[in-house]
Amino acid sequence: MNVLIIEDEKALADELEIFLTNYNYICEICYTGTTGSEKIAVNLYDFILIDLGLPDYDGLDLLKEAKKNNPEAICIILTARAEVYDRIKGLDLGADDYLAKPFSLLELQSRMQAITRRRFGLNQNLIDLSGFLINLTERTITYYNTEINTITKKEFDLIAYLILHKNRTLTRSQLSEHIWGSIINDDYDSNYIDAHIKNIRKKLNAHAPPDWLETVRGLGYKIKINS
Ligand code: CA
Repeated sequence: MNVLIIEDEKALADELEIFLTNYNYICEICYTGTTGSEKIAVNLYDFILIDLGLPDYDGLDLLKEAKKNNPEAICIILTARAEVYDRIKGLDLGADDYLAKPFSLLELQSRMQAITRRRFGLNQNLIDLSGFLINLTERTITYYNTEINTITKKEFDLIAYLILHKNRTLTRSQLSEHIWGSIINDDYDSNYIDAHIKNIRKKLNAHAPPDWLETVRGLGYKIKINS
């Protein structure tokens, strides 16, 4: 999942990037509200972290832009302790959560996970796909107690992202932007997505055919979950 971090305190922004990258998020940093606004206008993110105290931009305006241009993004505002009024206003404007500085990075990460689960209606981190047990927290896949340890990080990210958007077709461009953080203009550039899917299928097929992982002709990919 990709994250846009808009924070003028360079040390904090960098710390957030290192921390979240470690948790397999793809991060982009903006040290100013203006560049943040530009990014929000052209890219689509899964998460947008907005510092409300930016010297060059009203953080609440950025939040409004985020809600308008990235309606599916999870927006978390970062505030100073004193900015109670802005915090409430931010929640009114549709922020999904807020963290008052200084906050613990682990708390941020666990809140990001909790909001993701809520947003996508997952009440647990264990997903059973016809015998394949996907553990979203531990990032493991097992088939009847046999761990499939050949799945790479990116392959797991692909599976997890499709699970979150279950029963919905995601295009190669969407997968590329949210999992690799790179925008592609046409599907000719995105053969690597097909290659990854092919590898995933091959690795899973050694155990059982992953019929739930569907290719939607001319569009992209989808994971089918009945429930
Ligand atoms: Ca600030």
